[in-house]
Amino acid sequence: MDREKVIKGLEVCFDSSKECNGCPYIATPYCKTTLRNDVTVLLKEQEETIRNLEQEIRDKNERLKERAEQVDAMLKEQKAKTGHWVSVNDGDTVAIDNDGSVERACYCSECQKYLIASDEYAVYGRYCPFCGAKMEGR
Ligand SMILES: [Zn+2]
Repeated sequence: MDREKVIKGLEVCFDSSKECNGCPYIATPYCKTTLRNDVTVLLKEQEETIRNLEQEIRDKNERLKERAEQVDAMLKEQKAKTGHWVSVNDGDTVAIDNDGSVERACYCSECQKYLIASDEYAVYGRYCPFCGAKMEGR
């Protein structure tokens, strides 16, 4: 359906001062009936478009809600997860100082990843920067 044509037809047809000047339906037999039918088709098409968009929005909202629930569950799991730093040298649990730094080279008991740079220890010692486990020292 040619939307522009229908709108132009409506504008001209409902303005008696224009006397059909510029009406795209001027050469169409039964122009008013044709215009009315075209308006009906156009409105139905637009209703359909709106219904489809509304459905799309509902579907997207549903997916976002599911994703938010997954993220919530991941956060809860992460909060609940605890671990400790394992000494590279002897496998003992490495103590965490009051300022959060660890005493020795170590790796995470949960994900087995190593803390590498010594200057990172103070910042990350209380939580594993790789898996988020809360670290319990001794
Ligand atoms: Zn970890």
